[in-house]
Amino acid sequence: MSLREELPAGSQPYLLSNSRPTRHQTLFALCISAVLACACLAAVPFARIRLEGTEGLLPAYAAAMLLVEVITAALLLATYSVQRSLAVLVLSSAYLFSGLLALPWALTFPGVFDAFGLDTGMQSTATIAAVRRLGFALLVLAYAVLRNQDGRTEEPPVSSRPILTSVGMVGLCVALLTLAVFLDPGTLPEFMVSTRDVSGLWSYVSATALILYATTLLILLRGRRSVLDLWLIVVIVTLSIEIILLSYVSGGIRLSVGWWAGRVYGLVSASIVLLALLSQTTALHAKLAHAVSQERRIRESRLTMMEALSASIAHEINQPLSSMVTNANAAARWLDKPRPEIDEAQDAIEDIVSDGHRAGTIIEGIRMIFQKSSRDRELLDVKTLVKDVLRRWQADARRTGVALETDLEEEPVTVVGNRIQLQQVISNLVANAIDAVNEATGGERVVQLRTRQHDRNWVQVSVEDTGPGVALDDADRIFEAFFTTKPEGMGMGLMFCRSVIESHGGRLWLERHRPGGAAFRFTLPRLE
Ligand code: ADP
Repeated sequence: MSLREELPAGSQPYLLSNSRPTRHQTLFALCISAVLACACLAAVPFARIRLEGTEGLLPAYAAAMLLVEVITAALLLATYSVQRSLAVLVLSSAYLFSGLLALPWALTFPGVFDAFGLDTGMQSTATIAAVRRLGFALLVLAYAVLRNQDGRTEEPPVSSRPILTSVGMVGLCVALLTLAVFLDPGTLPEFMVSTRDVSGLWSYVSATALILYATTLLILLRGRRSVLDLWLIVVIVTLSIEIILLSYVSGGIRLSVGWWAGRVYGLVSASIVLLALLSQTTALHAKLAHAVSQERRIRESRLTMMEALSASIAHEINQPLSSMVTNANAAARWLDKPRPEIDEAQDAIEDIVSDGHRAGTIIEGIRMIFQKSSRDRELLDVKTLVKDVLRRWQADARRTGVALETDLEEEPVTVVGNRIQLQQVISNLVANAIDAVNEATGGERVVQLRTRQHDRNWVQVSVEDTGPGVALDDADRIFEAFFTTKPEGMGMGLMFCRSVIESHGGRLWLERHRPGGAAFRFTLPRLE
């Protein structure tokens, strides 16, 4: 079973918390974990060397942690707002909690802000560090437990109350802890024996955190994993290395090489989920921009099509309507005579009826275009399509003395398309060709329709005529809307034809026809 098939119905596979990691992502995460595990060995021989005067770097470190973790929390909240997964909300609280606590941790660090009178004793920083570490580990464990139990909701959240509640609760906890540390530093547990060295009590914090991480790791490794889970595994590996460096390898000596190496691992681990979320956001943004521009293009072309269609509707309906008015006036005049000419009036009324039928047919055709969405496609044989259109034009051509000839492929050539639209295209081209031949004085009066299999992938349909052809200056403009050289023309036909053919994945163009006249050709992708 492929990984995608395992996704629950209604999930959002574009979210880190819902998409399954690919083999490459898993390998990449494994490599990063291995590199981080090996790199820490470089610090081991020098781990207990004290780096005097490096307190000055702590505010920058804390600021970086605060920023990275708060941004991660914000991005996770954005994920929650789409997925509504309690697990993701808990994970975002973990990052927010850890990020906000970096501030009082740095403010109380011995020797960093003493000059501002911020001396809260030896135990404050360690107490904050213990709460921060255990709180984060517990919340990540809660995420691991909860992650398979929710996240099935598709609709967006109706209220932002859960987000505000979780942010409020985290903020309150951080504020209360900070207040307790600043107001009553004397009652804090004895994690430190000096400003630099930890006591035995601290080892319980490290051990508990390691146990919590190990449990989380086991839960995350079992069962289905999302990309977010995969990166959390790397985070937990990195955080475990951090604890080992800070509490064991460096012997718990603050500001030693091992301690600083641990801090670097802390920063790396904080950045891992952020980088994964940022890459997801960037990819989503690119997809969104692409989708929006595509949607806009489709809407514009649909609008132009609609304009073209409504103009041609008006044009098509106008003809029978005006002829009905003329015939009705004539019939009225014939009946109004002192000796009414009944036969003439009857002829005129019959013409009215047939014009009425023509208008009705046009309206029915339009209704069908709208009823069957223009995106409705079916398998069509090009030869049948051409023959159907020709049948409609035969009478008109005969009346005006134009020979309608065909040169069609024997074999059926199948395309996928909208029958009504494609018939309309061929019909428009034939109508133009007949108009053109009628314009020509003398010479052959032929309109020829050809179909050719271009290659295995394309079929080409041509409408060639022996009319006067298109003037060189006009050749570029005939496909523009409202360009016409005919007194009664609308100048919409060719534009409509081109947009239909292009929406079918083909191309429509004009060529000079050899014996004189014009050749309009279009291609359509054929189905093998
Ligand atoms: P309309 O037929 O209403 O003018 P079209 O968009 O169908 O609108 O055609 C635009 C113009 O292209 C026509 O007015 C005519 O000048 C030119 N044209 C189209 N087909 C032919 C043809 N077969 N031969 C010569 N000119 C043509």
